[in-house]
Amino acid sequence: MSYRVDTNLLKELKEYGDVNIEACFNCGNCTAICPLTDDSHPFPRNMIRLVQMGLKDRLLQSVDPWLCYYCGECSETCPKKAEPAEAMMSIRRWMIAEYDQSGHGAKFYKSESAVLKASLLYALIPLVLLLIYHVVTGFTNIVTDRVAVNTFAPVLWVWAIVLIDFALLGKRLITNALHMFRLVMSPNESAEKIPLAVYIQELKTLVIHTLTQKRWLDCGEDHKRWFKHLLLISGYGIMLVLVVGLLFWFQTDNIYPLYHPLRWLGYYATVVLLIFSGEAIVSRFRKREEIHRFSQPSDWLFPVFLFVGTLTGILVHIFRYAGWPLPTYIIYTIHVMIMIAMLDTEVGIGKWTHFIYRPFAVYLDAVKARALEQQSVPDLASAGAD
Ligand code: SF4
Ligand code: SF4
Repeated sequence: MSYRVDTNLLKELKEYGDVNIEACFNCGNCTAICPLTDDSHPFPRNMIRLVQMGLKDRLLQSVDPWLCYYCGECSETCPKKAEPAEAMMSIRRWMIAEYDQSGHGAKFYKSESAVLKASLLYALIPLVLLLIYHVVTGFTNIVTDRVAVNTFAPVLWVWAIVLIDFALLGKRLITNALHMFRLVMSPNESAEKIPLAVYIQELKTLVIHTLTQKRWLDCGEDHKRWFKHLLLISGYGIMLVLVVGLLFWFQTDNIYPLYHPLRWLGYYATVVLLIFSGEAIVSRFRKREEIHRFSQPSDWLFPVFLFVGTLTGILVHIFRYAGWPLPTYIIYTIHVMIMIAMLDTEVGIGKWTHFIYRPFAVYLDAVKARALEQQSVPDLASAGAD
């Protein structure tokens, strides 16, 4: 198979992060020190070589960038300060944009103003819908003698909008993941011959890595990072279940008793989201941790939206309990605007993509390895017969 050389690849990659791999003289120190490499995945050096040689297609066919968890050990020890860890991160951003054929990913990564405009536009959608609802109902559904959120914003309407939004976001993610699948599996000449059974047998790999992201445990010595990430994901997952699956019971004007599970699930998710999104913002400001030394606008998006969204969610709760109708409605509207803006801009380019593509890459790699293993058994048997 021949590959095209793209002489602009390095230049293009620089639009996705602080790439300094011109400085690299291919000593291989980074690969030697990386705790996650093996013989079939000698990153980051192999990825750096592909960029230097302009082999764009080969880069897109690789899963290696997704196998790196950004511990930063390679950058700390690089003798030329070529920042290989940030190069891997930039390659991942670039790949996300390439998987996304709509072109949104590339636009959002390259232009801060495109992200801001899109966020504003998405945020305006719930505001406009609420305004239309109140204009049509003659503003009679703004109850001011008590807090009545479900009259201000009927839960079934809100739930329907949330479900439609999630269906659209899900479609976008699945389409991009399928594109990744085609890129990664098609160059493998034997890929077409991989039986469906192999894909099914390896599904457990996909489930385990999605739920635990356990490769992270081997990335660097700081296991706290993995644990914090796990807590953040658990909080985020619970909040998604409450909002997408249980909104009818979650957005209610009834005040649940203190022992009610929905209340405690909501409290757990809120505390976890507030603490870890806040910590991520502070760490990006400080730039002390290797993972947060370089930040692109897309890296700020998720923690900032999440922190402000969680904070406004807490205020809705406080105002509701305090019995302040108008402040509750105003902050509720702001909260919904922030959450919709976060999801609609974030899902295509942010942490969601990492959360999905990483385990998917591990899965596809495991499928290839198992298929190869199964193919080599008859080969050996026939070799023995000769
Ligand atoms: S990135 Fe640094 S450590 Fe890695 S091969 Fe290049 S010069 Fe060596
Ligand atoms: S950041 Fe860590 S996991 Fe990624 S390539 Fe460098 S050493 Fe390996």
